[in-house]
Amino acid sequence: MKISQAYSRPARLLKVASWVIAIAFAIFLNMLGALVIRDLMYAPHGGPPNAEQFSDAVTSPLDVQMHDLQLQRDALNDKIENTRIAQERAVKLYTEARESFRNWIATRQATGDGRNDPELLARTRQLDALQASVAGWQKQQNALLDDARPIDARMNQLRVQIATARQAADERYQAASRRYELVVFGWRLALTLPLLVVAVWLFIRFRRNRYWPFVYGFGLFALTAFFVELVPYLPNFGGYVRVIVGIALTAFAGIYMLRAFQKYVERKRAELEQSQTDRARSVDYEKALSAYQKKLCPSCDKPWHLGGDQVSYCIHCGLNLFKVCGCGGRNFAFFPFCNQCGKPVSDDSAVKAEQQGTQSR
Ligand SMILES: [Zn+2]
Ligand SMILES: [Zn+2]
Repeated sequence: MKISQAYSRPARLLKVASWVIAIAFAIFLNMLGALVIRDLMYAPHGGPPNAEQFSDAVTSPLDVQMHDLQLQRDALNDKIENTRIAQERAVKLYTEARESFRNWIATRQATGDGRNDPELLARTRQLDALQASVAGWQKQQNALLDDARPIDARMNQLRVQIATARQAADERYQAASRRYELVVFGWRLALTLPLLVVAVWLFIRFRRNRYWPFVYGFGLFALTAFFVELVPYLPNFGGYVRVIVGIALTAFAGIYMLRAFQKYVERKRAELEQSQTDRARSVDYEKALSAYQKKLCPSCDKPWHLGGDQVSYCIHCGLNLFKVCGCGGRNFAFFPFCNQCGKPVSDDSAVKAEQQGTQSR
């Protein structure tokens, strides 16, 4: 039992301050880690691949061709539209002329006027000319449509080519993205895994060291680095990797916990096999105090007050819990001084008390 371990006020303050230092240390290490990772992420081939890079290289010459063809096609369309309008007008003119000719013929037959033969000829010629103009416009329109046909065919062909090229480019882009993800993950793994290993090693070896806040701070940093900087970047592979990592972590945590519990049980059993004095010595002063406040036996962690207010020994494991001083004062066995006379409760008296205890039992 070391009195210096008592939980005095400064000791508690030191503990709080140490934790503040551990957390601040972890935060600053995390900020440093984030900076390093940010700068590293620019390293693999200048950032993540983008989809346009891949499709543009192949499709842009095709797109240029397509654009040229479209311009040609638009020009042809304009011409076709113009000839269509001209033809419509010619048809209208022709129909009107034919109507008036019919009327004229009808009047002529009714009046029996036979002298206008030259006019008949002239009118017929004019009508023929109008009809020829209609046919001419139709012919021009047909020729233009003939011109448009190969352009349309070429455009359709180009459309198919562009679609195929886009698909191929997309596949290449997907592959590049997967590769990039792997590279990024590799970098992150190479950075975080050693940190985690070092943190575990530090924790196992130096967690009770005088400089433990730094060990804990580093451990917190490694843990956050693992969960923030590595886990979200696990490559997917259809969800397999994440699930497998989850299973591995749970199994690891479960095995560690069960082994720790087993060790605790074994330690307790070994403690119970020790003599009273050895067991009393193996109990930490702080632990004894907190157990006293909770009315638990500091050795077997079970409640002693079930045995009544005047217990001297633990009713579960037999540890000496209360001693009577030479002055008659009753003390918790782990208090260093008597609460009535202030004389030290020495180990000798503990041995004596134990002997008395065994005799009286
Ligand atoms: Zn006990
Ligand atoms: Zn006393």
